[in-house]
Parts: sequence; C-alpha cells; structure tokens
Amino acid sequence: MTRQRLYLSPPHLSGREQGYVQQVFDSNWIAPLGPQVDAFEAEFAAAVGAPHALALSSGTAALHLALIHLGVGPGDEVLVSTLTFSASANPVVYLGAQPVFIDSERISWNLDPALVCETIERKARQGRLPKAVIPVHLYGQSADMDPILAICARYEIPVIEDAAEALGATYRGRSPGTLGRAGIFSFNGNKIITTSGGGMLVSPDKELIEHARKLAQQARDPAPHYQHSEIGYNYRLSNVLAAIGRGQLEVLPERVRRKREICESYRQLLGDLPGIAFMPEAPWGRSTRWLTVITVDPAQFGATSEEIRLALEAENIESRPLWKPMHLQPVFRDCEVMGGAVAENLFHDGLCLPSGTAMTNSDLERVAGVVRLLQR
Ligand SMILES: *Cc1c(COP(=O)(O)O)cnc(C)c1O
Repeated sequence: MTRQRLYLSPPHLSGREQGYVQQVFDSNWIAPLGPQVDAFEAEFAAAVGAPHALALSSGTAALHLALIHLGVGPGDEVLVSTLTFSASANPVVYLGAQPVFIDSERISWNLDPALVCETIERKARQGRLPKAVIPVHLYGQSADMDPILAICARYEIPVIEDAAEALGATYRGRSPGTLGRAGIFSFNGNKIITTSGGGMLVSPDKELIEHARKLAQQARDPAPHYQHSEIGYNYRLSNVLAAIGRGQLEVLPERVRRKREICESYRQLLGDLPGIAFMPEAPWGRSTRWLTVITVDPAQFGATSEEIRLALEAENIESRPLWKPMHLQPVFRDCEVMGGAVAENLFHDGLCLPSGTAMTNSDLERVAGVVRLLQR
C-alpha cells in the first residue's frame, strides 16, 4: 500500500474562506468585480504596506500590465533575474522587448546587485539603457534591494519587483514588492496563500494602478457607450476568488510562522548530514521559507539531488529541482546573459523539499527518513 502523497506546497484553507464566499452568494454578486474585490485590495494593501493595490487574474497579468504602463515595447531591453520561473520573463517578450538575464549572488540566491550595476553602466556607455529591471524574490526571500534601487535611481530606470514567492517576507522591515515603482504578487495554488489563481499589482503610483485597472477591463474609456482608445485585456479577479483571498490573507502570519517552523524542523532532522546545506537567510530581512530548499554536494553526501528526488518520488513524496535558469531555456537561447554560473550551480545541486503548511511533524520525519537512508 502506498502512503498518502506529500505535495510540494499544496493549498491550505483556513476555514474562513467559505464565510466570505457565502457573502458573495447571498448578495448574488458573483460578478462583475464587486465588494469582495474592493475589500481584498484594501486588506492586501494594508497587509504589505502598499499605498495602492489592484487584484488581477494572475501574477503574470500584473507584471504584463506594469510593463505596458512603463512603455516597454519592441527593441527595449529589460533586466531580469535568470534564476526564476519563466513567468518573470514572459511578459517582457509579450511586448516585443528582450530580457537580459542576470545571475544570482550567493547570499540570497537573488539578483546580484554588482552585476546589475555593471550591466547598467555598460549599457549606459553604449547609449542603450534598459527600460526596466525585474528583481525576483525567490523562495520567500527578498533580494538585496537597496543597491539595486540606488543604481536604478541614478539612471532613472523603473524597478518592478516580482514578489510572487515572497508575500510575508521582509527587507529591512518592509515588504518586498513595495520597494520599487511597482510590485507583483501571485495567488497561484502553490503560493503561500491562494485564491486558486490570481495576482496583485501594488504601487505607490496611483496613476500606474489606475491605468492598469483600466487596461485589465478591456481599456474602456469613461463613456456610457463602449469606447476604447487603447488595447485592453481581460485580467481582473472575480468577486468569488477575491472572497477566498480574504479568508486566506487573515492567516498569512500563521502560514509564515509554520513555513519557517518547517524549515527549522528539516534543519534539525537533516542539518548534521555532510554535504547538505540549506538556502541561506540573508541578513537584511526575514524569509518566509515559502519552500525549504537544500543544496547537495554529492561528493560529501554520497548521492545527488536528483537521486534524492527519485528516492522521495518512489515513496510518493513530491520534491522539485530549483527553477532552471532562464538563460538555459531553449525559448530564451538567444537572450543576453550576465554571469550565470551561480544560478547554474544552484540548479544543479538544489532541491525543494515538500513545505506545505498543513504537513505534520511525522510527515517531515517521513521525508527526512528517506533522505537519511541515501547517505553513504
Ligand atoms: C508563481 C510565480 C509567478 C506567476 O504567478 P501566476 O499568478 O502563476 O501568474 C511569477 N513569478 C514567480 C517567481 C512565480 O513563482
């Protein structure tokens, strides 16, 4: 008999979602938009400390609209972390612009500020400044934003933060995603909170949010008839899904606490093994440990990260390699890349362990037991 499957990061309902969804049904306001969307936006903005927020159908949509507002278009270049999910880079290509991929640094596994600096200065000398920079806050941890914001401010390049994986994290006491010109979050099923699917765009720039709001609703001009002066999208979040989001947002602090506890448990269960290391927590903030990520040195441990993954899979336990760097992706093969070795090594040696907040301590012991058996 196979034991119950352990997933990487499945949805974890709080039990409060149905109350909000009931309000939707009681009011017959399942569409369009509606009071749950308004409330979710206000509550989310307050939770992360953002002046303005716009609920959307996905994090990818949020990034797309932010880039449109900034005027990114054909021939433009946008700097993007190479170690990330493809959704960080795809919207750049939707607009006919080109991503320029930048390597990670070792302290946080996020965008290397020194490489960003070097790239911007070189591009400035060539008279071709990037149109935007997209730092990604990976696996629940903020990138080192101060030096990135400083160099971008010097050249007046807007920064759009991809905080899809970092809701609940801090950077010098503030929320990543609220530090640049705009930030995006995701409520996809595997994220720390979920609406089954959805996203949020936040910004201190009211005009940016209002423009994105218009674009997300087919770009209707304010007129009683249907009039359009630009191309729009159908990107807004439904009132039903926003209701789920409100029930999830209430337990965000609890979820962060449990994610961190899970990481700490893995550390106690596996930390003594030679060749196993945990994703470092950078000194500038608190990681949510959205996923517990380890690296494996096969020479010291006696098995590779892929051998561990297969052994876990054989026990009906889901684990995953790190994001395959964008500069190694067939679809981005022609894009420029700065560095890349750090991300390549992390991809080669890294493994994301099951980190669902509903996991029990015996689930964690079950995972650790499989890993320990492989040590040679
Ligand atoms: C999940 C994710 C996204 C995309 O969010 P969706 O809501 O699924 O569109 C973008 N960037 C990163 C780094 C992600 O992990």
